[in-house]
Amino acid sequence: MIELTEVGRTFPGPPEVAALRDATFTVETGEIVAIVGPSGSGKSTLLNVLGLLDEPTSGTYRLAGVDTGTLKERQRTALRATTLGFVFQSAYVIAHLDCLANVAMPLAHLGVPRKERSGLAEAALRSVGLGHRLHAQPATLSGGERQRVAIARAIVHEPRVLLCDEPTGNLDSENTQAVLDLLEELVTGDRAVVIVTHETEVADRADRTVRVVDGHAAPLAA
Ligand code: ADP
Ligand code: MG
Repeated sequence: MIELTEVGRTFPGPPEVAALRDATFTVETGEIVAIVGPSGSGKSTLLNVLGLLDEPTSGTYRLAGVDTGTLKERQRTALRATTLGFVFQSAYVIAHLDCLANVAMPLAHLGVPRKERSGLAEAALRSVGLGHRLHAQPATLSGGERQRVAIARAIVHEPRVLLCDEPTGNLDSENTQAVLDLLEELVTGDRAVVIVTHETEVADRADRTVRVVDGHAAPLAA
């Protein structure tokens, strides 16, 4: 699903910064891969590249069979919108919208007809165990529930890859385990999940770990 070959990202500066020097690894469908590494090692740069939010300055990034380096900006945007879902440390739910409206929102950008959006959003909320809170306001939810709303919003368009940046960073260990249970359910035969984390309890539950050190990203030997 994801194949990086000697991917680098240098920021021109000055001073020039080689934030990512060599990222070489794959992520297959059906697996959860944790990306770990010290602060400043290049994790966010790597996640931005994986998310098609930033472009490598060297190497090859293939996503869902597509060499992303060959794409025009509009094609990159379309591939990002259809293939990827994003979960961040903060849920970033919109306070004045209920759960259903929050989760339905990305579908409007994808051109899904208005009539179909609610049904899809409801299904996504059910899949994260919030079928009973469709019309709840985010402020009335717990932090763990809000993060599940954010996950429902990230998967409502059925992305092949779910990219998560410290998704449990704001959660206690009970809610952390609940979110990890959920991510395990969501990683199916045709979906992959990537989690940037510095928490060992998260990395321990991943199928594999990619370690980033000084811009070098490679699978950690099992
Ligand atoms: P991490 O997420 O692992 O903490 P980052 O990917 O954010 O690491 O950063 C890696 C290195 O690249 C750091 O030295 C950081 O200062 C640098 N860096 C990140 N983004 C930029 C940028 N836009 N311009 C210049 N340097 C950057
Ligand atoms: Mg970072």
